[in-house]
Amino acid sequence: MQNLPIKERFSVPVSSVPYERNDWKKGYLSQPNEYDYWIDEVEGEIPSSLQGTLFRNGPGLLEVNGQRIHHPFDGDGMICAIAFDNGRAHFRNRFIRTEGYLKEQQAGKILYRGVFGTQKPGGWLANAFDFQLKNIANTNIIYWGGKLLALWEAAEPHRLDPKTLGTLGKDHLDGLLEEGNAFAAHPRIDPNCEQDDGSPVLVNFAIKPGLSTTITIYEFDPQGKLLHSQDRSVPGFAFIHDFAITPNYCLFFQNPVSFNPIPFALGLRGAGECVKFEPKKPTRILVIPRNSKEPVQILETQSGFVFHHANAFEQDDKIYIDSICYESFPEVEANSDFREVDFDAIAPGQLWRFTLNLNDKTVQRRLLEERCCEFPYVHPNHVGHPYRYLFMGAAHNPTGNAPLQALLKLDAVTGEQQLWSAAPQGYVSEPIFVPRPDGTEEDDGWVLSLVYDASRHRSDVVILDGRDFNRGPVARLHLKHHVPYGLHGSWTPNVF
Ligand code: FE
Repeated sequence: MQNLPIKERFSVPVSSVPYERNDWKKGYLSQPNEYDYWIDEVEGEIPSSLQGTLFRNGPGLLEVNGQRIHHPFDGDGMICAIAFDNGRAHFRNRFIRTEGYLKEQQAGKILYRGVFGTQKPGGWLANAFDFQLKNIANTNIIYWGGKLLALWEAAEPHRLDPKTLGTLGKDHLDGLLEEGNAFAAHPRIDPNCEQDDGSPVLVNFAIKPGLSTTITIYEFDPQGKLLHSQDRSVPGFAFIHDFAITPNYCLFFQNPVSFNPIPFALGLRGAGECVKFEPKKPTRILVIPRNSKEPVQILETQSGFVFHHANAFEQDDKIYIDSICYESFPEVEANSDFREVDFDAIAPGQLWRFTLNLNDKTVQRRLLEERCCEFPYVHPNHVGHPYRYLFMGAAHNPTGNAPLQALLKLDAVTGEQQLWSAAPQGYVSEPIFVPRPDGTEEDDGWVLSLVYDASRHRSDVVILDGRDFNRGPVARLHLKHHVPYGLHGSWTPNVF
């Protein structure tokens, strides 16, 4: 990781650090086993109206036959499905049988370079000029148009059987994608798209990097049929992981980074390790119309790095985007161990609101939440629309950079917040908000998160009441094993 000057406000006295590094590291141990069982250790009560399936994706293996990978982002995708049915819950996990996973498991060694620095054994000579990508399918999972798709942004999705999680193979979206084509891991669902008579629409994008960057935007109806797509070219290299939508726009942050491919070509570094943050350059906000051929508008704002956006909406002639911003891109160093990262040396992700004025092309930003946070989530009916409540993973302490140990509910209108913390030995994952079927209030629902419990080296599914985090978990479902820290997931009302 890059060494940054430590700022006063980021430093935390050692005595107040609410976690042990060795505890945190254990959450990065591989889970090679595949399970299938009804969860019978439950504290509290699973709400009977919570009907559906929570899918999670993330790296399941942090090594191949004892050979360590360099970064969790290079780990083979493993899906967990927790199905809720009449007050009971069933757990299942399966590795995605990608070509790379099968070949490496058979060979018992690393055969591919990873984007985030994993190298084949044998030094740079064994890695030079090998540009083959291993589609590891490890970032997100969605159920849309009757298909369960595991997503990894640099290549096509893998389709799985939603009942068994068995891998059905790569999915080219009815011929839309060619072999190896990118398809981002951050689709957004427009809850009521006017262009589709008010039906929900899945919007996603693909990035083709280069000296200029092509962004392709796809929109799919609930049956998974393509409604329309568009290609837009923007100047410069772009490293874009996520985007935000409103009824009329797709919004991208073109982070101020440059890419030097030479160390990658020479087998010295992974491609992701060749991305360099350019602190003197502004972030460009790309405003792309969804429903017209009007040109892309490019606005500039203060430098920073964004992986994830919480939400965006249009109001009073302006566009608002809420995003988790870092002061800098947390660069991956070639000879570092991510388990030994110096949290204090890195500025935390914080929630900012950007206000875009398309008339005078200005951007204003203000800090909504100072606490270190990531993985923002909002009520699905408010995606792209004005909203009030945000659910996020957060650090236990109000300042400083630290692992995510708490779940934070933020009222973006009043600034009021509620925090449920799993510290000192619990580590949370992305919270997923599931609306109560007959609920009318925006926070009336449940917040689901997989929480790693280092005291028992096992994971729990924690269910919080979205209206009141202070009650503590409504239910805590103890799994029989741990699940390594994951990335993203989704909820579907279908019980699989
Ligand atoms: Fe992401």
